[in-house]
Amino acid sequence: MTRRADVVVVGGGVIGCAVAWALARDGASVTLLEQRELACEASGAAAGMLLPYGESAGAGVFQRWGCEALARLPEVCAELRERSGVDPELEASGALYVARDAAAARALDARREAFPDGGLESLDAAAARDLVPRLAPEVRAALWSPREGHVRSPQLALAYAGTAEMLGAQVVRGATVHGLVREGERVCGVETSLGRRSSAAVVVCAGAWAPELVPMPLPIRPVRGQIVALDDASPRLRSILVEGATYLVPKRDGSLVLGATEEEAGYERRATPEGVAGLLAAGCSLVPDLGGTGFRGAWAGLRPATPDRLPAVGPVPGAPGLFVAAGHFRNGVLLSPVTGALIAAQVLGKSSPGWLEAFSPARFAGPPPEAE
Ligand SMILES: Cc1cc2nc3c(=O)[nH]c(=O)nc-3n(C[C@H](O)[C@H](O)[C@H](O)COP(=O)(O)OP(=O)(O)OC[C@H]3O[C@@H](n4cnc5c(N)ncnc54)[C@H](O)[C@@H]3O)c2cc1C
Repeated sequence: MTRRADVVVVGGGVIGCAVAWALARDGASVTLLEQRELACEASGAAAGMLLPYGESAGAGVFQRWGCEALARLPEVCAELRERSGVDPELEASGALYVARDAAAARALDARREAFPDGGLESLDAAAARDLVPRLAPEVRAALWSPREGHVRSPQLALAYAGTAEMLGAQVVRGATVHGLVREGERVCGVETSLGRRSSAAVVVCAGAWAPELVPMPLPIRPVRGQIVALDDASPRLRSILVEGATYLVPKRDGSLVLGATEEEAGYERRATPEGVAGLLAAGCSLVPDLGGTGFRGAWAGLRPATPDRLPAVGPVPGAPGLFVAAGHFRNGVLLSPVTGALIAAQVLGKSSPGWLEAFSPARFAGPPPEAE
């Protein structure tokens, strides 16, 4: 069966769903193809944190992209909830970053200074304990980030997809894309397990699997993240709590999400006893009374990572009609609303901001630099 859409979007994670939503909103006829279920990979595993300050090395284009997304999300989530009936559970909770030794306290100071917009405020230990009375007694310094927050990642993806459907998009689950259809260089559709789909443009949003579908070297690899969910105890945590690589996120259902490992494990997405034990030890050390609460579960997902840890968003060189939006690594949930809008503008031939060049997949197309 051959079907025609203006745009085929490959991959039903939070990025593909956001792209389908943005394109449908801009009037395109969209078909989203997902090989399994929506949000069944990284986007189903994510903690849903929105941390442009915690996840950026300093002020710059990447952090501004994150801040813009954070600023847009209240309106976006309200629109998605209203149209799709799915609540992304946006919480403007703030985030508390803590340190237990002198080196970690110095790192927090450096982080605050790296963001001259005043997004991070220094707190002493007593003020940090006022915010989170259950903190480990060794905590000696903290940063408070009032603007950051979190969503339920799978719900955000479902809400984008549901809204895209309300706007006329077709969302097809169980459709594996095997390859591109080309006329000369131009990409004009995809071959799928359900037949050929012709389209004027194709956007590959296949996360860690994107390199299989793009006719250029696209160095995106899976980086496994394991995560656990616990019952919270009283008094409930109200903000996100972060210490180095460990974080705790209080969800509306009374759970605390505790993450996350960062591992090179290929495409193996099982949680392991070693990974879970490490997370539990770190979490219970930071908030000691967690040791006595209930254990709800553990899972893992594969973050799509590029060598420079930055997304690849834009047209694919040498393949007119083909676009990629992948490689969002630790921040795909946060960056999703702006990613959708940027790709929709590019696909529909509207202007896009100059700073997006820094994230073009073309940065991987040239020959590797010669060794000295
Ligand atoms: C433990 C963990 C915690 C995280 N926490 C956060 C967080 O707090 N905040 C944040 O912003 N980000 C977080 N992330 C990162 C975030 O999950 C990712 O950046 C984001 O989910 C990437 O979305 P995606 O749509 O690109 O990829 P995915 O969610 O992996 O989706 C790709 C989709 O493409 C489909 N697909 C692949 N190949 C094909 C094909 N050939 N045909 C059809 N479909 C195909 C797959 O089935 C999959 O559904 C976390 C990740 C992990 C693992």
